[in-house]
Amino acid sequence: MAEFIAGPRVYSCCNCRSHVSLHDDIISKAFQGRHGRAFLFTHAMNIVVGPKEDRHLLTGLHTVADICCATCDEVLGWKYERAYEALQKYKEGKFIFEKLKIVKENW
Ligand SMILES: [Zn+2]
Repeated sequence: MAEFIAGPRVYSCCNCRSHVSLHDDIISKAFQGRHGRAFLFTHAMNIVVGPKEDRHLLTGLHTVADICCATCDEVLGWKYERAYEALQKYKEGKFIFEKLKIVKENW
């Protein structure tokens, strides 16, 4: 991989360009969102976490909360609050951003 980074590579809200996550915080790019491909991140910023709800996902029952842009309220993805199956526990406290909802900056 080429290394010619001037600053941190960030992802921004597709709507208002607030910075919402860092490329270095990506755990996986192989997630499925409601609008196609989605990325799993360890951290998020400038977002608001909505109410928790239980959802049956492809990988089983999870407690999740939608995450919205703190600036423009665009729904960007969700946070995994709790996973009920041992193999899915690594997702707890992590954030999903829909690929369609975020744009690259500083790449
Ligand atoms: Zn926004």
